[in-house]
Amino acid sequence: MNFSKLPQLVDMRGELKSKGTYSKRSKSITYRVWHHSLTKKYLAGSDAAGFAGYHVNTLGWPGIGYTFIIEPKNVINTPNGKRARIVYANDIDRRTYHVGNSNQFSLGICVAGDYRYDTMDEATLASIAELHAALVKDGVGKYDKAHNEMPGYSWKACCQYNYRDAFDWKGSKTPVKPQPAPDVYTIQEGDTLWSIAHKDGTGGV
Ligand SMILES: [Zn+2]
Repeated sequence: MNFSKLPQLVDMRGELKSKGTYSKRSKSITYRVWHHSLTKKYLAGSDAAGFAGYHVNTLGWPGIGYTFIIEPKNVINTPNGKRARIVYANDIDRRTYHVGNSNQFSLGICVAGDYRYDTMDEATLASIAELHAALVKDGVGKYDKAHNEMPGYSWKACCQYNYRDAFDWKGSKTPVKPQPAPDVYTIQEGDTLWSIAHKDGTGGV
């Protein structure tokens, strides 16, 4: 899986607060659903551990409701630059709670922050873009939706950031520098070294 190789990803499956297990999905993942946490991004508890505590202790869920959590306040230096930490919290194949009747076929990704007020920073945009690109490559989900684009949630102020713009963050689209074509000439019958040297116009004589 490409997503598991992201240098800013930390595998915390089984380490966050839980009081049970989510059942396995009965359907394959169709939607990648983008959330924000509605907790300002630099607050204590505005991270995977904080959300796990809330989902388990207050809401009574088996564990944290998202598969991935992006944490703007935990910045990691990676070979590609500064990146917001991505916590991998639940196996991809677990039907976690985040979009009601659509949970069976929806993957939940939460960016910590309250984007009615917070602004996105570069390290977070980069992590959104790279996680998205990796999931697309891995074939995890087919479409992207904000929480409030899912059936029954149009009233919800989630996710409040432009997730499609985030996917286009510049770092994810930096084209690979094209290699100059090697200057190779295939010797053909009748060529002599002297005639080859004159084909590129630099020959002396
Ligand atoms: Zn949401």
